[in-house]
Amino acid sequence: MTDSSHFISTRGQAPKANFAEVLLAGLAPDGGLYVPAAWPQFSEGEIAAFAGKPYSHVAFEILSRFAGDAFSSADLKSDIEAAYAGFEDKAIAPLREIAKDEYLLELFHGPTFAFKDIALQILGRLFARALKGRGGRATIVAATSGDTGSAAIAALGGLPNIEVFVLHPRGRVSDVQRRQMTTSPHANVHNIALEGSFDDAQALVKGLFAQTEFAREISLTAVNSINFVRIAAQAVYYFTATAALGHPATFIVPTGNFGDIFAGEAAERMGLGIQRLVIATNQNDIMARALNDGVYAAGAAHHTLSPSMDIQVASNFERALFESSNRDADWTAAAMNDFARDKKLVLPPLVLENLRARYSAFACDDAQTLVTIKRVYDATGQIIDPHTAVAACAAQRITARPAVILATAHPAKFPDAVTRAIGFAPPVPPALAALDKLPEKQDILANSLPLLRKFISSRLAAWT
Ligand SMILES: *Cc1c(COP(=O)(O)O)cnc(C)c1O
Repeated sequence: MTDSSHFISTRGQAPKANFAEVLLAGLAPDGGLYVPAAWPQFSEGEIAAFAGKPYSHVAFEILSRFAGDAFSSADLKSDIEAAYAGFEDKAIAPLREIAKDEYLLELFHGPTFAFKDIALQILGRLFARALKGRGGRATIVAATSGDTGSAAIAALGGLPNIEVFVLHPRGRVSDVQRRQMTTSPHANVHNIALEGSFDDAQALVKGLFAQTEFAREISLTAVNSINFVRIAAQAVYYFTATAALGHPATFIVPTGNFGDIFAGEAAERMGLGIQRLVIATNQNDIMARALNDGVYAAGAAHHTLSPSMDIQVASNFERALFESSNRDADWTAAAMNDFARDKKLVLPPLVLENLRARYSAFACDDAQTLVTIKRVYDATGQIIDPHTAVAACAAQRITARPAVILATAHPAKFPDAVTRAIGFAPPVPPALAALDKLPEKQDILANSLPLLRKFISSRLAAWT
């Protein structure tokens, strides 16, 4: 194993793990997040050579450095190719120029029309392979603000030896997002409409992991963006976009849980030239406040037009804190404990300085989101979704070029917001239109850990 193919925890108290172990575990056993012991390095020449190569070729080059010998090259290659075979745009993550030196990086051409597919389509396949290798079962519990749930269901529904429980905040996801989850025909998919916010759902999932005996008993695991394999898979499009442009870019990233933008930091740490990473948030602006005021503090949750970013606690920020403290695991563990207790963390000068050297942050509210959808439509004829619009709004505040806006969802997933902005709904892809006619299946659950545990146990009773 090389350093880039074994993984340590941001909190420093977990045994080293390989890629397959990290994939199956999700969260490290000390409560921290896995990061590679050392980032693999790509030379300028290697990166330039990615230009014009198929997306899955680049994905293999990058993922294989993390995978080491946990999967054979042939298996990894075939899973990556199968993951992207169903994307409706063969470029997988095409760049579309919308103004001079300003681009959309379209990440929504997968089966559920949001960027989560790019990582989860790979993760599901590797997951099934790793489980088969060890003859085990797994229970996946995912909290979703809207898009992770459907992408996880699309990737894992119907796979043997895997049960998938998805918690979404009841009434706070769009109708399309809900239907994408609740119309799954697969018996191993269990949808829970939680009486609470996304943060409540995420806290419940963390609570399940903390019940270590139960977690072990049911082989609990996570496919949320705390799973490092997702970060690795998402780093790929920073490389392909930069190689296509032939020049380092500024990436503007609609941010919730900080996974997508941290994948940009990962790419940069692997040797990719990036001008800047711009965090774009909606009114749930914890990340913008952290960067701009130096205080990472949870605020009240706002229900916005970009629900997949309605998040107060950005789980992946822990990875950026770890890196920005120059990998001080003791400090990171203490800081995360303080934050769990106080809901607030004052960032030390060194950490803040390191973060600011890489990231800028802007918040845009719903009114600005709507104005931005209209402005982009009027100027380019392009309809963007409200999450992408938050980033396009932030892009207005920077002058650096080339500017690459990550387009994280298809506008048809959010017809109400788009209609409010431009007066008509975006054309609906046939796969989404078909959902209207399918029966929905979900259970409503109160925000309670014991109740959730009971629900999961009853659904798994068939195992014994
Ligand atoms: C999940 C999601 C985001 C936020 O990504 P994070 O990795 O959580 O920061 C942004 N836009 C859309 C459409 C999403 O589904």
